[in-house]
Amino acid sequence: MIRAAVRGVAVSSGCRALIQFLVYYSSQNFLRSRVVSDPKKIEKTEQQWRQELDSETYRVTRQAGTEAAFSGKYCDLKDKGIYNCAACGEPLFSSDTKYDSGSGWPSFWEPVSEDNIEYISDTEYGMLRTEVNCKKCGSHLGHVFDDGPKPTNQRYCINSISLKHEKDE
Ligand code: FE
Repeated sequence: MIRAAVRGVAVSSGCRALIQFLVYYSSQNFLRSRVVSDPKKIEKTEQQWRQELDSETYRVTRQAGTEAAFSGKYCDLKDKGIYNCAACGEPLFSSDTKYDSGSGWPSFWEPVSEDNIEYISDTEYGMLRTEVNCKKCGSHLGHVFDDGPKPTNQRYCINSISLKHEKDE
């Protein structure tokens, strides 16, 4: 009787362990398949990015660098058009929402679509900032601050080198 009860406990704890393992295993596979099979994301190795991008674009987009203020080619650009991701070509910002913030970097009050942008908390240098990345390829673009103009009061402070301007026809 006691032996049967002990065996019962052993079996049920064995079952529980098996079930826990199966749940864990399938959840890991589920998560893995979600990451790998997202068709909207571009996934490349750092070596591939290094080969495709020039060293300064790589430093800013893949290593979250910052170009020197007032040095970027789009800081004062007024031409109409779309600013695409320099690394993957995804449309990110429009000249319609570009404004002169005086910061030394191209500034926009809104992205083309929230779906194309990824926001990450950045605590580097002891500051709490919100990093802005291209959602499609994960490239670093810049930061967003809440001191922008109306209607959003947002200032997307973006490195020129992370962007590629496509002029309106
Ligand atoms: Fe991109």
